[in-house]
Amino acid sequence: MIEEYYFAKSVSDALFFLKENQGQARIIAGGTDLLLDLADEKKHAAKLVDITHISELAEITVEENFMRIGAAVTHTQITRSPHIQKHFPALAAASGKVGSLQIRNISTLVGNIINAQPAADGAVALSALDARIEMMSEGSLSTLPLDDAYLGTGKSAVNSQAQLVTGVIIPLPQKNQSSAFIRLEQRKALALPMLNVAVNVTLDASLEGFVRAAIVMAPVGPKPTHAMEAEAFLQNVPVTPDTIRQAAQLAAKEANPRTSLIRGSREYRINVLPVLVQRALDQAIQQIKQDNHLM
Ligand SMILES: Cc1cc2nc3c(=O)[nH]c(=O)nc-3n(C[C@H](O)[C@H](O)[C@H](O)COP(=O)(O)OP(=O)(O)OC[C@H]3O[C@@H](n4cnc5c(N)ncnc54)[C@H](O)[C@@H]3O)c2cc1C
Repeated sequence: MIEEYYFAKSVSDALFFLKENQGQARIIAGGTDLLLDLADEKKHAAKLVDITHISELAEITVEENFMRIGAAVTHTQITRSPHIQKHFPALAAASGKVGSLQIRNISTLVGNIINAQPAADGAVALSALDARIEMMSEGSLSTLPLDDAYLGTGKSAVNSQAQLVTGVIIPLPQKNQSSAFIRLEQRKALALPMLNVAVNVTLDASLEGFVRAAIVMAPVGPKPTHAMEAEAFLQNVPVTPDTIRQAAQLAAKEANPRTSLIRGSREYRINVLPVLVQRALDQAIQQIKQDNHLM
């Protein structure tokens, strides 16, 4: 049972509350994951400290080489941000897929990461975008690569009873770089992903060769999974239907999905995965060409 619900006024206020109530208190943002987990007794907290009224956490800022998205920023804000649409189309698309409009209006990108589900849409996109999380604990600021924030399914490296993630940092795209996110689902709203794929592609100056590509797939393991062989294959090879097809096939070989009543059989998902990877790569390449006014 929740004894106290506290709206923190600042980051230090939230951390002070956690320290004063050591082991009893936990951070809450939108509550769309946490309140269910508390009701199901998967998590326990007597006191909740809400961080959504901390104005410095509600901002999306573009710095010289990176973008920072504050921990109180919702999926709706992300989907609608012109900066995110321009620099990180994969993230804008991924946040736009989360739950329903009501869910997106209150739930945060940071909550999506810390809940640590393998197919968390926002986290899958962030993994392809080489993002880091930034957190405060006991007065010290540290950062952690997104991939290291996952310890396993539902297990985060962040201790939300003592540490406060202040935001996500994403390197701004280089020249001829763009990203895409594709999701397979059973219906258009409030559906869990059967598969989701995010890519981040960099092409050379001629736009006819890959420099590199990040390919992240989920849920095919305990966390968003890089298709490492496919990523290695796409270094410095020409952009052709054949290289894209080969990369997509390699990615499927690296995936290890389980058969699931909700998400479909293992065989079906392994067969359909290359199509999603191919589409995501094609989409990112089209975007780069469009950015170069070639389309
Ligand atoms: C009906 C429904 C549909 C959904 N559909 C999808 C979907 O399609 N795709 C998808 O990816 N997710 C989906 N979700 C899951 C959920 O909405 C997302 O994971 C959401 O982004 C969580 O954000 P939140 O702000 O609500 O997190 P909360 O529930 O507030 O918190 C989640 C966890 O993160 C911790 N936490 C939050 N903020 C911080 C912080 N700043 N520092 C430290 N710890 C923190 C909390 O203590 C908690 O453990 C759905 C949920 C529901 C209820």
